[in-house]
Amino acid sequence: MSDVFSMSLLEARDALSRGDVSSAELTAAHVKAAEVAQGPLNCFTVIDPEHALGMAKASDARRAKGEAGALEGVPLVIKDLFATKGVETTASSNILKGFKPEYESSVTQNLWDAGAVMVAKSSMDEFAMGSSNETAATGPVINPWRAKGSEEKLVPGGSSGGSVSALAADIGYGATGTDTGGSIRQPAAFTGLVGVKPTYGRCSRWGVVAFASSLDHPGAFGKTVRDSALLTQTMAGHDPKDSTSYPGAVPDMLGACDKLVKGLRIGVPKEYRVDGMPGEIDALWEKGVEWLKSQGCEIVDISLPMTKYALPAYYIIAPAEASSNLARYDGMRYGLRVEGEDLIDTYEKTRAAGFGKEVQRRILIGTYVLSAGYYDAYYVKALKVRRRIYEDFQAAFEKVDAILTPTTPSAAFGIGSKSKADPIEMYLNDIFTVTANIAGIPAMSVPAGLDAQGLPLGLQVITRALDEETMFSVAAAIEDAAGFTAKPERWW
Ligand code: GLN
Repeated sequence: MSDVFSMSLLEARDALSRGDVSSAELTAAHVKAAEVAQGPLNCFTVIDPEHALGMAKASDARRAKGEAGALEGVPLVIKDLFATKGVETTASSNILKGFKPEYESSVTQNLWDAGAVMVAKSSMDEFAMGSSNETAATGPVINPWRAKGSEEKLVPGGSSGGSVSALAADIGYGATGTDTGGSIRQPAAFTGLVGVKPTYGRCSRWGVVAFASSLDHPGAFGKTVRDSALLTQTMAGHDPKDSTSYPGAVPDMLGACDKLVKGLRIGVPKEYRVDGMPGEIDALWEKGVEWLKSQGCEIVDISLPMTKYALPAYYIIAPAEASSNLARYDGMRYGLRVEGEDLIDTYEKTRAAGFGKEVQRRILIGTYVLSAGYYDAYYVKALKVRRRIYEDFQAAFEKVDAILTPTTPSAAFGIGSKSKADPIEMYLNDIFTVTANIAGIPAMSVPAGLDAQGLPLGLQVITRALDEETMFSVAAAIEDAAGFTAKPERWW
């Protein structure tokens, strides 16, 4: 068996099923690696060796009885937004400190039902609000990648930064994330990983701490497209506990990775060529187009004219929903309570102490855009824009089967380089990703190359609602052509 850390998820699964290694051995190695990485990368909120090994031993016992599931014994990293029964779940916020749910999120339950093992819980931007993972209550997460010849610490992207830092450092064979405006695809692009946001409703939101309910999408990270496909299809499925869960069958996403892309029509939207985008990203996009063309795809220039309104609409809808969702943190039911003079004073003190600056900013913006007098001017208008963005995609998908764009307008940036500036600078990171959340359609990022500084860049594939299969076929074709094998040099 090759080095356990360099295996893909599918390879680890096969090594486990051949009996080359037990889940207990594999999990113990990953827990140890997590403890070593935690100092320099700060990517975990919980490492609980006893819990991890307990799950691994139970998995080995199931296998011995001939009851192995699709992910039997495979160690995974879980974003701290997923409620995990009996294991602290904080959404990287002080306000949830000490909160141990009595229940398990449906998505993680699906993973455990398939035999997977939780190595650790990963840090994130507080309540998933951010694009750099600098707002966690436990401090910034560090990207294992560094620019050539530099020791500057870089952000892993956000909000699922802990999951990607861990996986890029070869801890776990896959990870969960959530994507409300790009939080799976953007950090995947910044760390040379595959990040999948399926169709809205494909993965249940039950037991996932809510940020903006109409935009929140649980999804997966993998080292390869096939790993991410197997994870996504295992996490997915109808859940009666989530009224927005899609009731239809889950397609064979892993099988779709082997389908040829010949004859597919790929759309290239001109509105995604934005001012100030580095030439290298444009060049990589061009390469992606050539790769697909050489595999028999037809390339079609398309227009998504409402794209320029996507970010403003997102930054009205997301805070509006967040301000309502976060009203429940009042010091009475979960986590932190700061006693005040009376009930209102307790609410105020608890929320002032428990929420970080970015979360407070979103609550204020959200409350403002929902207030009488501004509701029509901001919130209702943003909902109208949302409809138009959806219609843009619908019109495009009459002409094409998939859309190809860059995932992000830049590679990973330095810690502190954007967080101290105008918050809008940070929000601009989501320019290529928010549209798919607004429309609820599947989108994923595939590592496609390195920039001149040796940092990874991703390409994004977007398809029609519920057509994850075409998305995975195209992503696998890009992966084959790109031959991306780069890894961060080990410094941690
Ligand atoms: N960066 C976006 C935001 O801050 C998206 C975050 C996410 O997808 N969770 O809202």
